[in-house]
Formats: sequence, C-alpha cells, structure tokens
Amino acid sequence: MRVDILTIFPDFFRGPLDYGILRRARETSLVEVSIHDLRGFTRDKHRTVDDRPFGGGEGMVLKPEPIFECIEKLNAPPRAERIARRSTESVILLSAQGRQLDQSLAQELAALERVILICGRYEGVDERVSEHLADREISIGDYVLSGGELGAAVILDTITRLIPGAVGNEASTQQESFTARPEGREVKSENPSSTCTSGGLLDYPHYTRPAEFRGMTVPEVLVNGNHDEIRRWRRRTALEKTLRNRPDLLDPAALSEEDKKLLAQITGKN
Ligand code: SAH
Repeated sequence: MRVDILTIFPDFFRGPLDYGILRRARETSLVEVSIHDLRGFTRDKHRTVDDRPFGGGEGMVLKPEPIFECIEKLNAPPRAERIARRSTESVILLSAQGRQLDQSLAQELAALERVILICGRYEGVDERVSEHLADREISIGDYVLSGGELGAAVILDTITRLIPGAVGNEASTQQESFTARPEGREVKSENPSSTCTSGGLLDYPHYTRPAEFRGMTVPEVLVNGNHDEIRRWRRRTALEKTLRNRPDLLDPAALSEEDKKLLAQITGKN
C-alpha cells in the first residue's frame, strides 16, 4: 500500500513511523509512506499556506491551492471515480466533522492500494477541498485536535496492522476488539486462541508470566490447559468487559446461543 500525507509540519512524522509494526511494514515495503510539505506547493516568497476566513471570525484557514496542486502532482484518479468506489485509491481529509474511524472503516481502507491523507491546521481547511477534492472526511473521535497529523498517524497505524503480512501472527488481528466475525463463519475449534474472535466485542483479558505477582494471581482456568474452558472463560470475560465499558457494542443479533447464556449468567437473569 502507498500512503501519502499532506501537511504543513512534515517533521511531525519523524517519530510515529519509526517503531514496531509500522517500521517493519515500511522496511519490507508493505507500506510506502511519503510526506509532502504543503509549503512546497506555494508560489509566493513567504510560502503562505493559510489566510483569513471570508466573512470574518477567528483564526486562519488552510488555503486550497497548495492542497489541490499537491494532489494533482500525485496523480490521484478523478474524484467522481473515487466517490463511486470504482478506484482503489482514496483522498481523505482529516476533519473533526468527518465520519468517525472505526475498525470496519479501517478494514475498508486497508484493502485499498493507495490512501492520501490531508492534514488540516488552524481553524481548518477551505471547504472546497472537502467538496471538490477529497472523497472522504474522516474524524478519529468526537474531540477537536489542533491538527490532522495525529489523526493521520492513527489511521496509518490502524490500517497498516491490517495489511496481510504486517503483523507476525495474522490471526491475531482478527481476534481483537471491535473486529466483526467474517460473514457466516462459525467459530468453533479445538484451539482456544482461534475461537475467541471478538465478534465486534472488546477483546478478552490477557495475562503472562509470572503466574503470581505481588500476591496477584492469574485466573486458574488459564493455567490448567483445558482448551474448551479457556475458550468459554475468554468469551465470558469479553462479554463482561463489553457490558461494563461499552454496552453500545453488544448487538443481540450478533450473539451466539452460547453468548446469550453467558450473558444471562453475567447479568444474573438465569
Ligand atoms: N474548526 C474545526 C476544527 C479545526 S482543528 C471544527 O470546529 O471542526 C484543525 C484541524 O485538525 C482540522 O482541519 C483537522 O484536520 C484536524 N482535526 C481536528 N480534530 C480532528 C478529529 N477529531 N479527527 C481528525 N482530524 C481532526
């Protein structure tokens, strides 16, 4: 996958790309990341990227010309093609007003060949970029950041780990929090780790050695080696944690009969 990031602060990305999975994915060319400095696409001697808002009001707005020129140089397919999802490329504007990023959107983006991320600053970006250039606006959450760079790094990290080959054990990205089960896939196996696909729930709790630390012990069931009990325990604790922290994720339609029984035990409505 190719990822291009448009920013007025190119140095911002010196750290976030250089660790762990993202670093390895770049080294092995699973992802190629290019950072583009919007000031390089200005024509005045002060390299101006922002201007005052029409109609008055606070702050500055990122000008459209450098952004349009940079995207044109990157040869992205026409917006109409991208909007119609007939293209494997997407031009995304980071924006607090965008569709909120979640795991299913990340999966959709991870399947593309190229993603171009436009980072706003100040009061935001001239609206013509969203209306006539980008094909999506994405927000990373209901809060206001001072720039799109952190959002771009979040999107890049989230989609990179979904690219086949980026994470050592591929099955692990299918078992994580928020990850819906593939359509029609029955989850049943002898191996406890492969039976706990989160199915859109939060992940189950993880423990490692030592089995006892400062008097705190790991759950007995995890050390006794009974795979079926481990699988049930993981499912029950995932349901418990989801109910406690994110009840909005519990979709009764997505729950199996076993899930419903476990949930009834948890809520005491047996
Ligand atoms: N005036 C805007 C906020 C501008 S913040 C508003 O009220 O919605 C400046 C830039 O930070 C934005 O252009 C956008 O690129 C980025 N940004 C801010 N919050 C964000 C969020 N939640 N998700 C993604 N990008 C965000």
